[in-house]
Amino acid sequence: STHIQLASRPVGWPTTGDFATVKVELGPLGPGQVRVVNEFMSVDPYMRGRMSAAKSYTAPFAVGETMTGGAIGRVVESASDAIPVGAVVLHQFGWRDVVQEDAAGFKIVPELPGVPLSLYLGVLGMTGFTGYVGLTAIAGMKAGDTVFISGAAGAVGTAAGQIARLLGAGRVIGSAGSDEKVALLTEKYGYDAAFNYKSGPVRELLATAAPEGIDVFFDNVGGDHLEAALAAFNPGGRGALCGAISSYNATERKAGPDNMGNMITRGLTLKGFTLGSYLDLAPEFNEHMTKWFTDGDIAFDETVVDGVENAVDAFLGMMAGANTGKMVVRTAVN
Ligand code: NDP
Repeated sequence: STHIQLASRPVGWPTTGDFATVKVELGPLGPGQVRVVNEFMSVDPYMRGRMSAAKSYTAPFAVGETMTGGAIGRVVESASDAIPVGAVVLHQFGWRDVVQEDAAGFKIVPELPGVPLSLYLGVLGMTGFTGYVGLTAIAGMKAGDTVFISGAAGAVGTAAGQIARLLGAGRVIGSAGSDEKVALLTEKYGYDAAFNYKSGPVRELLATAAPEGIDVFFDNVGGDHLEAALAAFNPGGRGALCGAISSYNATERKAGPDNMGNMITRGLTLKGFTLGSYLDLAPEFNEHMTKWFTDGDIAFDETVVDGVENAVDAFLGMMAGANTGKMVVRTAVN
């Protein structure tokens, strides 16, 4: 099996030298174990945090050990009564092409005709669920709200924009880092307005895109996007702080938004969240998303990188904006 390990803790932007690709010999199955050939593995921004030693909501990856993360694959050998050969399983043993572990670490998911398994890592899975939780449980989005989503062309962003629309948002506004992504937001994802945050000061771009102000902010980016949202909020506005990717590779701390006082004068609420604390909402999300998806109401994009040996490039590319929608790695067995 080919595994990707953390070789050293990155400072600032990770480099390929911070990772090592190693061959691992898998022995015969132990009692209760299954062997799974992964079809897709996920690369996600939160993994950058786990590459650092700092304690966060997930434990740091250990240097010299195989990293972990979301993956989906097929059982090829089983010594477990619970999981038969042929089952499609979702699990956390990513960053490798073949895994052999106790059956308890795997969850069987239905294989839906015509639906790529990679969607379980994206819009039907973690990133779609994140969009749903942020809008509903965190921001308390109501019908008619004007919603601004930063990082709108990524995995969480593309899901959040559509969910906002399906839940009755008034206007949906998004930002992304290229003109192509911006065009996709309005043409494919139903955004009413979108802008390229690299084309000028975000505060001005948002003011132009949202002349009537915003009621809900779904933040994937932080920094100048948060500051712009604080300036654009209508009274009673609510922000779901989902991510702050603009700072994940920063080596220096930046001063915060200079307009936090708007929280007082406009009665704003900002609430951060990590999905792990809201897993009780999974059945509710699955029910909604299954209906929306089967009704054909959900568009999606994926950027697929082939080969587990290219997983680091996929991760680094995603951090730099090489993806539209969800970045996934199609793992191939060597
Ligand atoms: P994406 O698919 O959105 O990929 C990351 C994107 O971030 C890139 O494509 C790039 O798009 C954008 N980006 C990178 N650097 C910057 C920057 N300096 N300023 C603005 N945009 C930047 O990733 P995900 O959808 O998986 O994650 C999106 C966010 O949600 C992340 O912040 C992540 O940490 C967070 N998250 C939080 C969860 C939670 O439980 N709270 C769960 C899952 C994700 P572009 O070309 O537009 O720059």
